[in-house]
Amino acid sequence: MNVLVIGSGAREHAIAWKLSQSEFCDQVFVAPGNAGTAEFHTTAAVDIHDFEELGKFAADFNIMMMVVGPENSLVEGIHDYFAQSEYLKHILVIGPKKAAAMLEGSKDYCKAFLQKYNIPTARYQAFTEDTFKEAVEYLKQQSFPAVIKADGLAAGKGVIIAQDYEEGFDALDAMLRNKRFGNAGSKVVIEEYLQGIEVSVFILTDGKEYVLLPEAKDYKRIGEGDSGLNTGGMGAISPVPFADEVFMQKVKERVIEPTLRGMQEEQLDYSGFLFIGLMNVNGDPYVIEYNVRLGDPETEAILPRIQSDLFMMFKALHDHTLGEYQLEVDPRTATTVILASGGYPEGYEKGKEISGLENVPKDVMVFHAGTSMVNGKLLNNGGRVFAVTALGDTMEEALAKANAAAEAITWQGRYYRRDIGFDLGKERVQ
Ligand code: ATP
Repeated sequence: MNVLVIGSGAREHAIAWKLSQSEFCDQVFVAPGNAGTAEFHTTAAVDIHDFEELGKFAADFNIMMMVVGPENSLVEGIHDYFAQSEYLKHILVIGPKKAAAMLEGSKDYCKAFLQKYNIPTARYQAFTEDTFKEAVEYLKQQSFPAVIKADGLAAGKGVIIAQDYEEGFDALDAMLRNKRFGNAGSKVVIEEYLQGIEVSVFILTDGKEYVLLPEAKDYKRIGEGDSGLNTGGMGAISPVPFADEVFMQKVKERVIEPTLRGMQEEQLDYSGFLFIGLMNVNGDPYVIEYNVRLGDPETEAILPRIQSDLFMMFKALHDHTLGEYQLEVDPRTATTVILASGGYPEGYEKGKEISGLENVPKDVMVFHAGTSMVNGKLLNNGGRVFAVTALGDTMEEALAKANAAAEAITWQGRYYRRDIGFDLGKERVQ
């Protein structure tokens, strides 16, 4: 069976890598892919935002399953387009339809959903330009820090943690009046700041049954010790020691089960991964956000731990048998270190030649992100360039292996964080 993976990051490289291990997958296509996916899979040079072109490609290459990596494609309605077409509707799409993708596409919708189904989350209110005055009044009543969020997709940049009223006012002014995030900021959510430690929980679901995947923690800031600007993610670790049985039982009962009940009540047609961003507040889970797809770099840490056949998991979703699915997970710790271009997440130079990949030990996985192959030379072509993942019996061992491999891959300006997982303690709690 031929499978198409949509996206061009290390997440999609990891998904393609994992699917290729299945004896049921014939050809794995990645659109638009990168230099890494081009090496082992078939890269499809199609515009992924042009659904007609994508549909034509899927029909021409006999695609039977499509896995959608990025949220934009889902929020734009890629699944709906395929489901409505006579020629494409037989294709199993891993990723929800547009209506359900709003759980990620609109923070106001997400918060209203959480509140309606009694799922623990920070207190909030939503405002528009017309209710700017009320927004300012509401802000005045908050204790600080307080969180101001652009309603729509803003690639992780639309969230401001305001330390005081002035900062909060500036954020409201920039979003609502000066349209700093365009349409994404024409509505804002003001919410209570939750003090705790974050964890990302993932399920694969058909909207009714689900299988729980390994959890992960990601590291968003560019600098060591979680300093500096926010990025797409600089590293990840799985499992997360504090996400023990007691905590995960709370997550199931208080978060996952009511979420699925809510989806059914709202008649949200779901098929795919649901990423639940949680804050652990004194041992209790609070939902920060839903993402309607896998995370990057969390995917690069969790897929290497999943021993089960990913294609068969998708088939179980299709057959509505996820409830009985027994997931096999490698108990070891996976550490993912992101190699980025110098200057990222601000300006950086592209086109630098990369060397040293041949020095990476065979048991370390290197997933490509912003890479391209030009005249036989591998070049950096984006902010985040590689995700390097190593497994170890302890977190320390996994991190030492990942860091050694990261050090071996070089180009002018290459940067990576050497402290992934340090905040979680040295030894993994068994
Ligand atoms: P991303 O694309 O990076 O996932 P996003 O734009 O979808 O981000 P959120 O995940 O809602 O936005 O928020 C981004 C980050 O801001 C969170 O990962 C968390 O660190 C912080 N954050 C958001 N809401 C809160 C809150 N209520 N209390 C404390 N921190 C918060």
